[in-house]
Amino acid sequence: MKLYLVGHTLRYETGNLCFLFFPGEKLQVEADRSQHGDFYAITRVKKGQRFVHVLVILGKNGKCTKGHAVFLNQALASKRETEYALGKAFLNAGEALCGIRPPWGILTGIRPVKIAEHLLQTGMQAEQATKYMTEKLLVRPEKATLCLRTAEKEARIRALSQSNSVSLYIAIPFCPTRCLYCSFISHDVEKMQKLLPDYVEKLCAELHAIGNLVRTLGLKLETIYVGGGTPTSLSVPMLTRIFDTVRASFTLEDLREYTVEAGRPDTITPEKLQVIRASGCTRLCINPQTLNASVLKTIGRSHTPEQFFQAFSVARQEGFTSINCDLIVGLPGDTAKSFHQTMDQLMSLSPEGVTVHTLAMKRSSRLVSTGLAQYAAHSAEVNQMLEMAYSQLDRAGLSPYYLYRQRNTVGNLENTGFSKPGHEGLYNVFIMDETHTVLAAGAGGVTKMRRPQGTHIERVFNFKYPYEYIARFDQVIARKEKVEEFYHGSVFQDLSGGGQPSGD
Ligand code: SF4
Repeated sequence: MKLYLVGHTLRYETGNLCFLFFPGEKLQVEADRSQHGDFYAITRVKKGQRFVHVLVILGKNGKCTKGHAVFLNQALASKRETEYALGKAFLNAGEALCGIRPPWGILTGIRPVKIAEHLLQTGMQAEQATKYMTEKLLVRPEKATLCLRTAEKEARIRALSQSNSVSLYIAIPFCPTRCLYCSFISHDVEKMQKLLPDYVEKLCAELHAIGNLVRTLGLKLETIYVGGGTPTSLSVPMLTRIFDTVRASFTLEDLREYTVEAGRPDTITPEKLQVIRASGCTRLCINPQTLNASVLKTIGRSHTPEQFFQAFSVARQEGFTSINCDLIVGLPGDTAKSFHQTMDQLMSLSPEGVTVHTLAMKRSSRLVSTGLAQYAAHSAEVNQMLEMAYSQLDRAGLSPYYLYRQRNTVGNLENTGFSKPGHEGLYNVFIMDETHTVLAAGAGGVTKMRRPQGTHIERVFNFKYPYEYIARFDQVIARKEKVEEFYHGSVFQDLSGGGQPSGD
């Protein structure tokens, strides 16, 4: 697709607008409009004496549509006004060409909640902020409301974090089979059997090293998240070894939350849940994704809806009082009717949390590489399913507490976490918002360090693949020195009144 910028230099912003209507297209930014071919976007900004005129022309397969916008050419007319006008003109031309009105309007970033927060911080009341989002940013009223509700909840969660707060992520990147839509680095637990004992030993050694760091640096562990992959694809003795190491390496008394993402119901047994429960885990995730048996089969999850109900019931029997369930909207073969049934069945269990994801079409997934993506539900239908799920969750007393968007989701729609009061997934907000340092252990783990008094972030990467993580474990441990250096540097900077490094 060719993109022309005429009278402006907003390449990044107009590029993102192109992706709203033509996701996954390769953009070629051009100057010479005489050769625009058959698939193009011409974006023009023309400043007159009193007004600035914006024109967008979109062309595809012989069809051509136009969108206009205009604003006063005042000395204060900013880059932002130009962006908004380009967005408005783009949406009008895009709707005429593709028949789609993006529910998030001209917002293309992954954190629309940040915008809502910013508006509230400028002193706007929720009503004014909603008006701004719907009229200026062309966001649908229901999305603006969702965003503002989430912003308030996120702010309350963020306020729990103190200057020495940290969280811990433990990566167990193994799964029983690979889901069709998966783009993570997750490994078949059967094929990896030989590696598992070594992996668990190294992981425990890393946890021990992180525990020492937390103690010597005087950090306060707020949340632990054990994720993957599917942590419960490990055996009972392996899980016991890991959870015992966590207990021995960290002070858990002040911990606010300890989540274990059991994930796939077919890996959950009463014995594994007993080990998890004894570890001090406060929040369990069991993820059906859908309760439509044929859709589960299509997406390559080797479990049935019955196995999910069984796992949920065993978790309750073992005493778990905070269970979160993930769903995906837009899966191939799912319809509004079958998704409605999934919601009804799930809500009959009264989970404390439900996270509703929109299907993402990741290039590295089998969903895209096998061409099955074409069977995914379409954006209008997916949005309808989302809105229906939100109403049902609301009625059951679950409220949104975190929201983000990923690239290449169906219809550019969102992922939202809902929970009953007091059951919000705090780690989800801390990691998404980069509220404080998250120390990561295991293959693929990325430690993200945030300076206590600022926004500067530094990262330390672990090796991605388990065999590499095991073979080069000395380097994994050596890299932990960076955490110490970072915190010593922070203390020094704070004491000397130093500001943020230029990268902030
Ligand atoms: S359970 Fe999650 S990590 Fe494992 S294959 Fe499925 S999507 Fe990937």
